[in-house]
Amino acid sequence: MNQLTLDTIVALAKRRGFVFQNSEIYGGLANLYDYGPMGAALLRNIRNIWWKTFIESRTDMVGLDASIISHANIWKASGHVAGFADAMVDCKACKMRTRADHLIEAYFESQNTTEKVEGKSDEELNAIIQKEKIPCPSCGKFDWTSVRKFNLLFPVQLGILEESQSLAYLRGETAQGMFVNFKNVVDSSRVKLPFGIGQLGKSFRNEITKGNFVFRTLEFEQGEIEYFFDPQVTPWEPLYEQWKKDMWAFVTEQLGVQPKNLRWRTHTDEERSFYSKRTEDLEYNYPFGYKELWGLAYRTDYDLSQHIKFSGVDLSYVNPQTGTRIVPHVIEPAVGITRLFLMILCDAYWFDEAKQRVVLKLHPSLAPYKAAVFPLVSNKPELVEKARAVYDMLRLDRAVAWDDRGNIGKRYMAQDEIGTPYCITVDYQTLEDNTVTVRNRDTAEQTRVAVDELKGIVQ
Ligand SMILES: [Zn+2]
Repeated sequence: MNQLTLDTIVALAKRRGFVFQNSEIYGGLANLYDYGPMGAALLRNIRNIWWKTFIESRTDMVGLDASIISHANIWKASGHVAGFADAMVDCKACKMRTRADHLIEAYFESQNTTEKVEGKSDEELNAIIQKEKIPCPSCGKFDWTSVRKFNLLFPVQLGILEESQSLAYLRGETAQGMFVNFKNVVDSSRVKLPFGIGQLGKSFRNEITKGNFVFRTLEFEQGEIEYFFDPQVTPWEPLYEQWKKDMWAFVTEQLGVQPKNLRWRTHTDEERSFYSKRTEDLEYNYPFGYKELWGLAYRTDYDLSQHIKFSGVDLSYVNPQTGTRIVPHVIEPAVGITRLFLMILCDAYWFDEAKQRVVLKLHPSLAPYKAAVFPLVSNKPELVEKARAVYDMLRLDRAVAWDDRGNIGKRYMAQDEIGTPYCITVDYQTLEDNTVTVRNRDTAEQTRVAVDELKGIVQ
């Protein structure tokens, strides 16, 4: 089988209403996307499974939903205002602006070699560009400015007065919401260390990106967990290993992704933040190579300590048994929900050579529709009426599609491409013996089933 390309996924996503270009009728905005009816349903299913797995079904986790617009000092304390920036260069000849690391990587790729640029300083990036005399990919000239940093946070001006006090930021990550609310959560709920706070929500980074569809976008959705513990009582290494197992199980079992497309990668000393004791990425083999899906970092007590320093508020925790006061340490599993989304589309995509059809082999819990109901033909009122009755019976419990357009083959094709596990057809025999045909998405085999059994099958 041919290698799956990103273009194939992009085309399917548009054709079947998963993902649209943002502001398309106005020419579109780069690196921003809208999720259509199928995309919204798939995203909702991913969120629900994540929330159920990591928040609801655990006794040591609570949820949070913090504001997107947030105080400028949060981002000073977190280090984002000072250090959260892309190293950029401008071509003086044609004014093209590009990320220095992307320029270098693309150049070495074109030379069929690779160069590790992550973690390199601006001076080191500059030196490579100068030494290799890397030309501008747009105009071919070699006339770069020196490497400069651009901040990735989106500033927001609150109110009508343009004063510095009114400057806030769209959050660059959801994690800070958990740190700044740590005391609120401890004081208002019955949590005891070790425990975690989890959150789903949008974050924003004003980066110049290579795109790769919804993999890297200016606005993206995260599922982050801050798991707090006292390292004197709970050793961090077994905790860290347990999180690795939980993350792996979530992707392979709950989302049904093939393990052969996943791997762990440990951050090198250069890429790891100075306060982190260990950082590993769970990576997925996207059509553009292995890329980060889910980061796992042991961040020590850095974040809470920073907020204690900047806010002057005591965020320490008192052990109810011993009375000891500590600043908790934290392990952070942080996943991109929209990266899970793209992984699922890529992993589920299957071209059935034998039947020349495209199938999304989605895990049933992820499928936008659990089943589809058709009348064999749409111009026989008694068939349509019976099919409607079957549809009405099923759709109250689960998301079920209705389709009476065109021929049955076209309807199967449409449902295969959005991953609907079962197609139920009401035909003339149904009127006689109250049975229907149920077609299995993956095998395309049809079986005759009594209408009374349908609820059980769809469940
Ligand atoms: Zn140029």
